[in-house]
Amino acid sequence: MKFHVITLFPESFDSYLQESIIGRAIKQKLISVAFYDPRKFAPKELKKKWPDGNVTVYADGRPFGGGPGMVLRAEPYIAAIEKAVETIKKDAEKKAKKTGKAVKPKIKMIFFAPFGEKFTTDYAKNTVEKFTDVIFISGRYEGIDARVQHIFKADEISIGDYVLTGGELPAMVCIDCMARQVSGVLGNFDSREEERVSSSKVFTRPEILVHNKKKHKVPEVLLSGNPKLIDAWKKGIE
Ligand code: SAM
Repeated sequence: MKFHVITLFPESFDSYLQESIIGRAIKQKLISVAFYDPRKFAPKELKKKWPDGNVTVYADGRPFGGGPGMVLRAEPYIAAIEKAVETIKKDAEKKAKKTGKAVKPKIKMIFFAPFGEKFTTDYAKNTVEKFTDVIFISGRYEGIDARVQHIFKADEISIGDYVLTGGELPAMVCIDCMARQVSGVLGNFDSREEERVSSSKVFTRPEILVHNKKKHKVPEVLLSGNPKLIDAWKKGIE
């Protein structure tokens, strides 16, 4: 599964993607994550080169109709998305040449918005089953010009009923959740919650935990060795 993130802040992903299960999945090439910074793809009309060689990219503008904050312009995002699509197609061609087997890439585009369709494990599972590549479009400030979502017919997705400062955390949330659905990423594929009865209350050793002279025991049923009773208990506390 290949993830492509359109973001003004690609470095914000560094630490998370290097750690633990996701870091291992990237090293094992089970998943990959590529970044496209819209500033790099902005058309020259939106760039100004100063005498000292520095370049300013005018990637945002005032919102039509008024209101606070700045809106990210469509052109740099469109160019970055087109670059991602082109990269996906070229990679597929290279792979076809190498293996002698042509596989047409299937691309899902996700445009983050606080009030979009709610992201769920089912959505993640469906996406991993049906697509080879996911392009995440992460906004900032007052968001990206809405025509970008319309032009690419991207799904408008929210990770919850709250407003964040940017779409980078939503992209990380989706990558993490989708990666769990990729075969080989979890040591044991059956670890996925939907494959078993799981609960948010979990316990490990010691059986009796002493804290401030008070004993805290593991629920008796979990020590019973009876899977039916254990599943019933887990369902009961969800
Ligand atoms: N007034 C804007 C709106 O209602 O869309 C708020 C934009 S928000 C400050 C900036 C960006 O963060 C959004 O364009 C989106 O990419 C991302 N974002 C913020 N909250 C989000 C959420 N709950 N789910 C998904 N993306 C979110």
